[in-house]
Amino acid sequence: MAADPDCLFCRIAADEIPSTKVYEDDLILAFRDIAPRAPTHILIIPRDHIASAADLTEDHAALLGRLFAVAARIARDEGIADGGYRLVSNVGRWGGQTVDHLHVHLLGGRPFSWPPG
Ligand code: AMP
Repeated sequence: MAADPDCLFCRIAADEIPSTKVYEDDLILAFRDIAPRAPTHILIIPRDHIASAADLTEDHAALLGRLFAVAARIARDEGIADGGYRLVSNVGRWGGQTVDHLHVHLLGGRPFSWPPG
């Protein structure tokens, strides 16, 4: 689906809601999380509306390759690549997803424990 007018992240992608962007191209947008859980906390999203990782198919392979390459590039630009960082995509209520538009959290700047809570 191209865009959902009721979706927060579609509205951010359309510049209807402001965000602090760190990267954008024709397929991908990355912006700082409004409630950061780490010194670096960036959300990386496809511009098209995909509700969650549960809705991905093999047709999205190129998009996902781009998204993860963008994550690595941002991590380098943010200076967190050497220390390591975490990429997370929450799925559904028990997975902790609160915005139903696929996003990958890029978290860095501090150590993270495992398993997550
Ligand atoms: P999740 O809970 O995995 O679905 O992640 C959604 C994330 O979106 C949370 O970390 C929120 O803090 C973040 N968030 C919600 N509204 C905004 C906004 N307007 N701009 C930036 N980040 C947001």
